[in-house]
Amino acid sequence: MKLLGKVALVTGSAQGIGQAVAIRLAQEGADVIVDDRAIGESAQQTADAITKLGRKVHMIAGDLANTADDRRVIADGVAKLGKIDILVNNAGVEKRADFWNVTEAEYDFVMQINLRGTFFITQDFVNHLIATKRTGRIINMSSVHEEMAFPHFSTYCASKGGLKMLCRNLAVELGPLGITVNNIAPGAIATPINKALLNNPELMKLLESKIPLGRLGTPNDVAGLAAFLASDDAAYMTGATFFVDGGLICNYHEQ
Ligand code: NAD
Repeated sequence: MKLLGKVALVTGSAQGIGQAVAIRLAQEGADVIVDDRAIGESAQQTADAITKLGRKVHMIAGDLANTADDRRVIADGVAKLGKIDILVNNAGVEKRADFWNVTEAEYDFVMQINLRGTFFITQDFVNHLIATKRTGRIINMSSVHEEMAFPHFSTYCASKGGLKMLCRNLAVELGPLGITVNNIAPGAIATPINKALLNNPELMKLLESKIPLGRLGTPNDVAGLAAFLASDDAAYMTGATFFVDGGLICNYHEQ
């Protein structure tokens, strides 16, 4: 087990990629703080799976878009599990809209969760590490869309592009403190965020034809990388983005 004795906080871990990451980190020995907008049945399922693995778990509701909540999530997590070593900034949202129709409310919704919330909860985590004189790991769930265009999702691309540069910048600024920062860039993963796509067989076929490995990814395809980046094996890796996309970003066809 690579993460025995560590405590991880995974935002948005009630479902999808965050749920798989939280459980995978527990399989590697970490105690886990499960955080999501609301704590319901699905968050409970994450927590039950972690408990079954013999690890400690603490569930907390917090809206990432609210900086007071971010501070509370970190403080409460530390109070309950003693410390936090690993922060996985996983919670994220998207809104489809033609660029010329994007409203301020849509822009704010996406940016406040994907970029602003991630920024300030990371700041709270870093202050916790500084106060306790410890090193730590930050893993951001970015996207292939920190690099690759996604027409009609300009707010999402702007937020993930921001995460790309935040990762690079914090790697340099936090490196001297022994804190590593890396991004995971999933391609198309079968989770509730892609409900419309998963229910559209024609669109699915088209997308699968663009993925060299010929299928969508699963949350577990992503979780293994998060566990690796949180482990000692990744001690000398910082400021980088790692793609888990079945080759999507490299694809090019003449026809
Ligand atoms: P999902 O919608 O299945 O899960 C996201 C989780 O985040 C949900 O549990 C949701 O309640 C939570 N969340 C949303 N807003 C929140 C807030 N304000 N505060 C706290 N929690 C909040 O999505 P997913 O596919 O599992 O995506 C997870 C991350 O991976 C996101 O950052 C997403 O952008 C990224 N990603 C997903 C894909 C994909 O194809 N699924 C691809 C690339 C990147």
